[in-house]
Order: sequence, then structure tokens, then C-alpha cells
Amino acid sequence: MDTIKDLGEFGFIEKIKTIFEQPDNVIGIGDDCAVIPMLDTNLLVTVDTLIENVHFFNNHSMDKLAIKALNVNISDIIACGGIPKWAFLSISLNPMMQISKLDIFLNQLHKQCERHNIYLIGGNTTKDDKLSINITLIGEAQKPILRSGAKAGQDVFVTGKIGCSACGFWALKNKTKAHSKCLERFLAPQARTDLIAQIKPYATCMIDISDGLLQDANHVCRASKVGMEIFLEQVKFCECDNLNMIDKITFGEDYELLFCAERRHREHILAIGDVSLIGYTNDSQKITIYHNGNIVKPDKYGFTHF
Ligand code: ADP
Ligand code: MG
Repeated sequence: MDTIKDLGEFGFIEKIKTIFEQPDNVIGIGDDCAVIPMLDTNLLVTVDTLIENVHFFNNHSMDKLAIKALNVNISDIIACGGIPKWAFLSISLNPMMQISKLDIFLNQLHKQCERHNIYLIGGNTTKDDKLSINITLIGEAQKPILRSGAKAGQDVFVTGKIGCSACGFWALKNKTKAHSKCLERFLAPQARTDLIAQIKPYATCMIDISDGLLQDANHVCRASKVGMEIFLEQVKFCECDNLNMIDKITFGEDYELLFCAERRHREHILAIGDVSLIGYTNDSQKITIYHNGNIVKPDKYGFTHF
């Protein structure tokens, strides 16, 4: 094993975990946020970087980029059942970037912070040929919801539609057509802050879908030591036809929420709206995917950086 590509993103994270001992009282590496207990609450901390040609193209509007940069982090905080509070912006800028473009970015970031009651209280600025944006977001949760909370015999739900961002990304990359909602989902995704208050009382575990439905379901299974049966005909997919179902469940960047709940809450949860029951947990420790009664074996699980 010679390169990081062989090790893979998650192999690399595992390596870090073996070197850096995690403190007993903190939920460290492995969830959507680190959870640090305080006297009467828990601090949640998450950090995400947006890189040109991976998360955005160089003609991405700065307005939409600001929405994306903050919302991908808000999504991690709410996936842990928390409320976002304080942000740090680290940004690498090309010296020839127009100030007017940067102003558009900052004004929209400010608008987003105001909308979500977040204060930007620090950061770091560096020079680079390519733009990269890194936001650290700190939030708070009385009762954090973790990836590790699922038990066998629970329902698995997902919010919204899956695959929109994938269709938007590939349409932009290949200069083909996609539904405008899908383009918007890739360019300026919104974290599901609209649903979180209704979901929170029922969720035994939760994750936001950033690496793909399948990969993120797998993260829950590994953290909770459960298996899952997922029924693809119950997943709501975006209507675009430029990608197949497997591409839509393995691309990621949907920023929808996947969560588990006890079966007795099923009717209440479905009544929230824009939430689909897509499967069940079991004690098999593996994910089995069905489509109309047939087992599907995808050749990939989801997005990794390497
Ligand atoms: P998410 O998709 O929810 O943002 P990631 O897949 O990026 O989560 O990360 C999974 C876990 O690994 C998180 O707990 C994150 O803090 C941790 N992690 C990722 N990269 C690193 C790193 N370079 N050093 C330490 N921890 C990391
Ligand atoms: Mg996440």
C-alpha cells in the first residue's frame, strides 16, 4: 500500500484514529460532529472544506457558493440534533480575484448567518491559485443524536429526494440538461432545518447524506453495529433521467437526513411529510438492497475523495 489512493479516505481517517487517542468523555472522530460535554449542554463542532472542481466549478456563482459553504456545515450540526451557533471562515484566495465577487460571497454568507442565528467569530486567510473555502461550525445540543444510536428492528427513514445534486453536478460538468431544482441542489443546497424539530423527538440515530445514501447508511450500520434492508422502490428519487438509481444513491451531496426510529412512531413520522420509510434495521451487520423484490448489488458504495 503506497499511496493515499490505496488507503482511501476512510482508511486515512481510521489511521488518524489509531494514532490520536480519543478522550473518553468526548465523541471524537467518527460522527457528523465532535460532541464535547459542557456543564449543562454539549458543544458540537464540525468542519468542511469546499474545493474547486470537486464541490464547485470556477464559474459557480459566489452567491450560491456562500449558501453551500455554510449549509453543508449546518447539515452536520442538525444531523447531530443540534443548533448551529458560531462559525469560523478559513479561505484561500487568488490575489487576482475581484473584490466585487468576494463582496457577493460575504454578503450572502452574512445573510445565511443571520437567517440561522449564527455569528461568524473568526477564521483564517491565505493566498492560493485556487479558491477553497473552509468553515468550522460550532453548535449546541442538550441531547445529541449520534450515528451509533440505531438498534435492530427499527425503521429507516430519509428526507426529501435523493440524487438531485448528482444530476445537477453531472449536467453542469457535461454541459447537458437537468431539472433546475437539481442544479440548485448541487450549487446551493439547503440543510433540512425545516424538518429537524419534527424529526428530533423520534430519531434514535441520524446522519446527513453527504457521501451518498448507501455510504452514509453504511456509516450508521458500522457505528450502530446493525445491518439494514433498504428498498429502493420506496426511496424518492429526483426525476432527472441523466443518471441511474445506483448513481443517484452513491454520489452524495444531497444534504438530506437519514435516521432510524422505533416502529411505533411510524405514522407520526410519515405525517411530518417529505419523509420516506426506506427500510429496516436488523442484526445482520450488512446492508441488503432490494428493488422490486430483487437483490441489487451495486459496484460502488458512495463518494470518497481518493
Ligand atoms: P461528514 O461527511 O459528516 O462531514 P466525514 O466523512 O468528512 O464526515 O468525516 C467523518 C469523521 O471523520 C468525522 O468525525 C470527522 O471529524 C473525521 N475526520 C475526517 N477527516 C479527518 C481528519 N483529517 N482528521 C481528523 N478527523 C477527521
Ligand atoms: Mg455529515
